Amino acid sequence: MDLDRLLGRIVDEVAPLRGAGSAADYIPALARVDPGRFGIAIADLDGRVRGAGEWEAPFSVQSISKVFTLALVLAGGDDESLWRRVGREPSGNAFNSLVQLEHERGIPRNPFINAGALTVTDELVSLAGDATGELLAFLRAESGNPDLRVDEEVAASEAAHGDRNLALTHFMASYGNMRNPVATVLDQYVRQCSIEMSCRDLVRSGLFLAARGERRDGSELVTRRQAKRINAIMLTCGTYDAAGDFAYRVGIPGKSGVGGGILAIVPGRCAVAVWSPGLDERGNSVAGVAALDHFTTLTGWSVF
Ligand code: GLN
Repeated sequence: MDLDRLLGRIVDEVAPLRGAGSAADYIPALARVDPGRFGIAIADLDGRVRGAGEWEAPFSVQSISKVFTLALVLAGGDDESLWRRVGREPSGNAFNSLVQLEHERGIPRNPFINAGALTVTDELVSLAGDATGELLAFLRAESGNPDLRVDEEVAASEAAHGDRNLALTHFMASYGNMRNPVATVLDQYVRQCSIEMSCRDLVRSGLFLAARGERRDGSELVTRRQAKRINAIMLTCGTYDAAGDFAYRVGIPGKSGVGGGILAIVPGRCAVAVWSPGLDERGNSVAGVAALDHFTTLTGWSVF
């Protein structure tokens, strides 16, 4: 299969969708990005990276960071202590919803909604202190891009409009499900979400999930079992209350962010990343999901 041609074809297929939806506006700095931009990249298990469109343009990874913080916590801690604090069931609710937290006594449904990711960040602060520094060090090494950094403007913009995440964190703290000060956890969470990466950086950094937990240098980040489980949670929870529809249309594990990116994994084969900032009402990239639908249909690479 000529993957370069295939990526070019996908760029053409999704052209009519570019600009559909709208960029996230609850974080004002993200609302300024042109919703019509589009990029796609793929990294195979040999580490070869290909791309089309704006595949080298940096964008705000937002919730895609949740995959990497989960992997770092699983790599550095003990799985059971994390899973006592956060579940692994799809929520069926918006990514920033509060409703289930009261019913489930401060235990978030899964690590990929905001409440769950805040507990994961809390664990990473306990493990590493400078959780964002730890995350950046991993991403720089894996992507081979030493320039990866937090976009301070996006971080400040989200922090200034962070009432919902503040509420979620305090609510969990009220149930005893927060180990570090709320302000520290929120600051670290917002900074992680505000890291800028390109599709190219993302596929290199996420390749360990296609490679059964192995980093690009051959060392093990997470075990095979943990890699399998992270992929399972991406499939069932990675696109929030659209996870069923994403499995139906795309058929591989994927994690989206409100910056318009999606990191998707074909286990045993490759990592794919797409970016287009126009979002649907559930916060997933319109052209990005369509591109991944074309990708898995044209290649036949799906877990189904
Ligand atoms: N930083 C964003 C938030 O907490 C991330 C949300 C997302 O990408 N879905 O709301």
